[in-house]
Order: sequence, then C-alpha cells, then structure tokens
Amino acid sequence: MARQDGTRDVTLETPLHALLANKRRVSALKKLGVLDVRDALTYYPFRVTDPVPVRALVQAQPGLKEKMACAVRVRSVRVSPMNARAGYRVEVLVDDDEFAATLHVRGSLATLVFFSHRKSYVDWLAGRLRVDGHVVIAGDPTMYMDRLQFTHPELLTVGGANLRADVSTVAEGLQRVCRPRPVYHANSRISSEHIHDTILYVLRLLAGEDPATAMHADDETAQPHMRTLYAENPQIREHLDAAIPDILPGNLLAELNLMHRAQAFSQIHDPDSVGAFTQAITTMRYEEAFVCQTALIRARHDAREHNAYVCSDVQLRDEYIDTLPFVLTKGQREVVDEISHDMCQDHPMQRLLQGEVGSGKTVVAVSAMLQAVGSGHQAVLVAPTQVLAEQHYQSISNVFNRAPVLLLTGGMKLAERRKVLGTAASGEPCIVVATHAAFSKSFQAPNLALAVIDEQHRFGVEQRETLRSKSDVDPHLLVMTATPIPRTAAMTWFGDLDISWLTELPGGRKPIQTVVIPEENAPLMAEMFWHIRHRIDAGERAYIVCPRIEESTEDAEGGESGGDARADSDDGMLLSDEDLGETNARAPLHSVHEISERLQSLPQFQGVRFCELTGRDDDETKERVMAEFASGQTPVMVATTVIEVGVDVPQASCIVIFDADRYGLSQLHQLRGRVGRGGTHSWAFLVSQAEPNSIAEQRLDVIAHSLDGALIAQKDLELRGAGDVLGDTQSGGRSSLKLLRVVKDAAMITDARKRAELLLDADPTLEHHTQLAGAVLDFSRGNEKFLTSN
Ligand code: ADP
Ligand code: MG
Repeated sequence: MARQDGTRDVTLETPLHALLANKRRVSALKKLGVLDVRDALTYYPFRVTDPVPVRALVQAQPGLKEKMACAVRVRSVRVSPMNARAGYRVEVLVDDDEFAATLHVRGSLATLVFFSHRKSYVDWLAGRLRVDGHVVIAGDPTMYMDRLQFTHPELLTVGGANLRADVSTVAEGLQRVCRPRPVYHANSRISSEHIHDTILYVLRLLAGEDPATAMHADDETAQPHMRTLYAENPQIREHLDAAIPDILPGNLLAELNLMHRAQAFSQIHDPDSVGAFTQAITTMRYEEAFVCQTALIRARHDAREHNAYVCSDVQLRDEYIDTLPFVLTKGQREVVDEISHDMCQDHPMQRLLQGEVGSGKTVVAVSAMLQAVGSGHQAVLVAPTQVLAEQHYQSISNVFNRAPVLLLTGGMKLAERRKVLGTAASGEPCIVVATHAAFSKSFQAPNLALAVIDEQHRFGVEQRETLRSKSDVDPHLLVMTATPIPRTAAMTWFGDLDISWLTELPGGRKPIQTVVIPEENAPLMAEMFWHIRHRIDAGERAYIVCPRIEESTEDAEGGESGGDARADSDDGMLLSDEDLGETNARAPLHSVHEISERLQSLPQFQGVRFCELTGRDDDETKERVMAEFASGQTPVMVATTVIEVGVDVPQASCIVIFDADRYGLSQLHQLRGRVGRGGTHSWAFLVSQAEPNSIAEQRLDVIAHSLDGALIAQKDLELRGAGDVLGDTQSGGRSSLKLLRVVKDAAMITDARKRAELLLDADPTLEHHTQLAGAVLDFSRGNEKFLTSN
C-alpha cells in the first residue's frame, strides 16, 4: 500500500488543507482548532459508543433507536431516480436465512435504503452489491410498510469469490461493525462522524496509504469504514510507527503498560474495544503529564544557571518588621526566612507564595523588597490593578522612607512617568510599585534584584519572563496568589517554581457568614437590605457587585446575555449560558448603574450615599471613589469585579454579589474575602437566579458551606475546566494539555514528576531522548499561551 504517485509524505505537520479536497470541511475543522495532522490526531473523542449487539432480523427491535448488526444476503438491488432535485434512491432487498440459522431462529427479510444526489456514489454502491452476495450491516432498524428497514446502514461486503470485498468472512465483518466508535465534540458545521472520517483518513495517509484508496473518508455519503488495522497489519504498523515516533522512553511504556504512540492514536480513533480505547487515552494522558513535568523541571534547572544579585543585608527588613503593629505569624516568619535564604544565593529565586485572602502576604512581600533595597539594589512590586497599586504604594510609603518609593502606572502624567522611569533606569536603589506598566519596554531597572508579582493568576508566564529582561542580571522572583490551587495543579502550572504556603489567617478574624439568596424571594431580599442598612448605621461599609457595567440594549434578544456580558464587564471569567449547560433564556445580568439606581430608591437606603466603581473609570476617579468609600463618606459601593483583588478597607463588613451563579467558585471566594478584614463580623450575600437543583445551585452550595479556599478551588476545578479556573478562556484547541486533569490525575502527575526527575538526572540535556526534547520544546512554547491570561 506504499505511495506510488511520488507525492511528498504526510507528516504530523502537514496542514489539512493540503490533504482534504473538501474546503468546507477544512474550514469547519479550523474552527475547532484543527489545522494540521497533529491537531487532528489530538482532537480526542470524549467517549466511545457501546459495542453494537449482533442480532438476527427477527430479533430486531425497531423504533428503539438502537443500533444492531446482522449478516445478510442480497436478493435484489433497485436504483430509482427520484425527481431531479432529490437525486437517487437505492433499495436493496436482503434476507438473513443463513445467519439466522446459526442463531437457531428463523430467517426473514429487510430493506436497505440509501439516498444520494451523486450518480458516482450510487454506481459505486450498486457495484458492490451483487445479487446473492453476502454483506454485513449495522444500523438502526425501523418499520416501513410492514417491513424491517435500515436507512443508510453501515455496510461491509463479505469475500467469497469477490476479491475486492471489504472483509473475507462474516465473523470479521461483524467484529468490525460492532466495535465501539469514538464520539467527538462537534458543532453545527461538522458532525462527529465527519470528524471521525477525517481523522481516520489522515491516519491512513500517515500509514502510507494511497490517497485514492483512502479517499472515501472524504466523501460525504460514504460510510466510515476506514479501519487502519494497526493491530493486524504489520505493514501499516511499520509505517505508522515511523510517522508517529514514540515520545515516552520505551522502558517507561513497558513498565507502565502503555501503548506505542502510533498504536495509541489508532486505538483512540479506531478502537478494537473499550478497554483498548481506555488504555490508549491513558497513554496519551501520561505523555502529557510527563512532557509537562519534564519541561517544568528543565526550566527550573535552567534558572539555576543564571546569575542574580546576592541580597544578604537584612537590617532594613528587620527594622520594618519591628515597627509593625503586630507580630508575624509563625507561617509568615517561616516564609520570610525561606525567601531570605533564596535571596542570599547567586542564582535567581523562583518562588510561588500561596496564601488565602487576608493571610498577610503583603508584609512578606515588603520584607523581601526591603532586603533587596537594604542590600543596595532595586525591587519592583507588580499589582494587577491600578487601585491595588495605589494601595500598596500608600502603605509602603507610609512605613518606609530610606530610599525612594515610586508609583508607575499607565495612566500617569507623562512628566511624572518620565521621572519615575529615569530613577529606575539610573540604578539607584528604590522600590517601584507598578501596574502592567512594568512590562512595557520603557521600564528598565539595571539594578533590579527582586520582582514581586501579586495575584499571579492575572499574569502569564510570558510576562514573568519579560521581567527577567529588565535588569543586568536575572531578578529574584516572588509570585503571590490568593487563588488556592490544589498541590498537583500547582505542580502542573507552576512546577518551575518553589512553593510556600501561608495557611493561617492572622489577627483572630471572624469567619464570614455566607448566605445564598434567590433573587425572586422578595422578602428575603428586603431583609438583606435592612441588615446592610443596620451595619452601615454602625459605621461599616458594603460592597455591591454586579457583573456588568451598563445595561445592554440588546437584551431583548435574550439568550445572548452571557456573551454580551463578557464584552461589557471587567471580567473575562463570567460563565456563559453555554458553559452552564443552560438552555432557557434567563433574565439579563445586572449592571452597576441599574442596581445603584434601584437600591437608592429603596426605603432601606434613604439618606445613604452610594458610589460606583468600574474598570471604565479613569485612574483619578478610581482613586477618589476608593478614598471616599474608605472614609465612610459613601459607605455603599456598587462595583464590578474591579474590587476583586486585594482591595483592603477594614470597615467593609457586607458584600452582595448579584448574579452569583455566573461566577467561578474561586472568584466568589476571592470577592467575599474583601469583607471582614477589620475584625468585625461579616456577611457575603450571593444573589442568584439559579434554578432549583441545577448545577449552578450546587456550586453556590459549596461556597456557602465552606471557607476553605483549597477545597473550593478543588470543587471549582471539578465543576469547570482548568483553563477557566486560571482565567484563560482556553479551549482555543491548541493548549498543550488536552487530556490531563489536574485534580483527577493527581497520582499520575506525581508519578510523572518523579520519573521525569530521574530521566533528567541521567540525561540533563535530553540528548539521548530527541523526540522527548522536541515535545518539551513544543510544550514550553504552547504553554506560554496556555498560562497567559488577560
Ligand atoms: P493578603 O494575603 O490577602 O494580601 P494582606 O497582606 O492584605 O493579605 O493582609 C490582610 C490584613 O492583615 C492587613 O490589614 C494586614 O495588615 C493584616 N496582617 C498581616 N499580617 C498580620 C499579622 N501577623 N497579625 C495581624 N494582622 C496582620
Ligand atoms: Mg494582597
């Protein structure tokens, strides 16, 4: 079956448009992120069908919409043209007398019906169906005019005298039509079956088959019968193994009972059995885990090869810690020491600090920065929002005046900005508090010893990398996140970093009480507003969070509201109807302006001043609004999720989150952490339109009953995809991790990490594992995109 036409060999990199004549199909696949052969092979099915049962025709159960398979003999074939528009109808009368006898039942008759516009197809079909010829069929039986009928059944011709038959025996034919089929995520432009056909076609080309022979996979009316026969045909096996070389080392495949890579792809897209399919998926999943861990461990080793400023003077730092109005918790002390140890090395620290909202990460970060400045260098703290940068800038300036503390944001006046950039570029020891502006080329700090990134999930690996280019040597890196990530997830996403945890909350904080409030429950809503009024009268503050900035004019359309909201919110992470599997159109999402007006007209809020804050406000406005809220002038703030990260107003005791059913759990947890930071009692009200017993309601239940960030993160991961939790809308189809699930596959990830470490110990540059080296490189490139959000 070797290629004879001299065309170039198909490889994993071959683009599909070079292989498929059907341009509509090429473009439909492109929409799914499938551009080349590799994409096609890694467009994994999400399940396989059950094996099709074998029955005699009399045992058929028409009307049940259940497939069956049977062996029959052709009695007659009739091709009749329908009217000009509709094309042709092929009607085949068959009996199963012989086959029924083997099952000890009586034989009977059935009709097979095919329709097509294309004469060529009809001729090809009729040519295969000779009177008295045996065929194996599989399909969904129906009754039509008192006779059993199969419309477009799958069909294999059985050998005998016919050398061009599909199979040589009935048993072989039955085995093939009955085997489980993969089912793919499809869309309105391409069906799962057509995706399957294309992938099998591509596999056959990779196996060296002639395009003309493999062609019918691209024929819309032909049945998918493109078995690759990896298991049975040594020629195919040889070709495929060469075209799809193993990435995992051979000894590892054997030890873990995994398949060869080519075999795995064959068994995923063309499984012999459900068991083989599962084993094949496990193989590819393990490969992802292993490649990912190898890439991360290598990145970590690489970092050790770089130079960093040694920061060993801790005097300034200790003075700062001594002036704090509280003592560090044991956890904070430990992390400060870990960081201190790292910063005394001459290679860059790569550390992730995980700690619940309110666990006191800022003090740790400031300590580290003072260690850098005290040692004669520069430090930068990057915050995800303007508001947060302001806050950090204020609190650091308040406690520290031994070196310049500078604020760098995008919205600054040019002259001011120039001055800050000038100081940084001069190399003078200083602390820079910045927003994304720190990633711009104009920011250079040749004496930069430490970069702290607050709230990592808003930043990507690429941005982390950008910071490394700011200085003459690599800065020490401290990444902080309040979104608790299960251990194996952290291992997968931040496996190149050392990890510290802050587990206890300082200062005897009282747990936040969380209540889910169905929006249609008017008395409960009223009671909630009264409660808030009382807290405000007691000198406290309240946040009201809405997903949208403005009311949309397009809401009348219904159903689309989820999509609109993304464009009109400060949040790329809202769930859509589709994410939630909702089909009923629901009321439009609430907006800041609408809610602000509505609440101000309520008796509960007479005489109370409101303010509004959204991502659209300019920096000056934001600053003013925050200050007025903090001072109590405007004790109720209606805002978007701009308040999500880090905002710290100790008097805030209540937060109301409208459309709470539309947020990720970790995000709700994060939002709720905005209240109760001053030691008062605090409340989070999750206003929801979730239907009773829906998944959305279950999700809110989780958050209402737990304050454990790690558990919430775990549930969030189970209920949604990993990419969503990271804030990456992902699913562009090209992310490197397609099968690996950071929660369910925890054991696999841990195992892969151990084995990857062993392999790298023996072969640090992967010179003896070239396929693996290539995959690692691809992963690192793809992963930049995968981890980059916002
Ligand atoms: P986060 O980890 O969410 O960034 P912060 O650093 O903002 O938390 O700290 C939350 C609050 O706790 C701040 O007001 C901070 O001053 C206070 N805090 C931090 N450490 C301690 C401590 N050891 N004892 C008491 N209060 C503390
Ligand atoms: Mg913080």
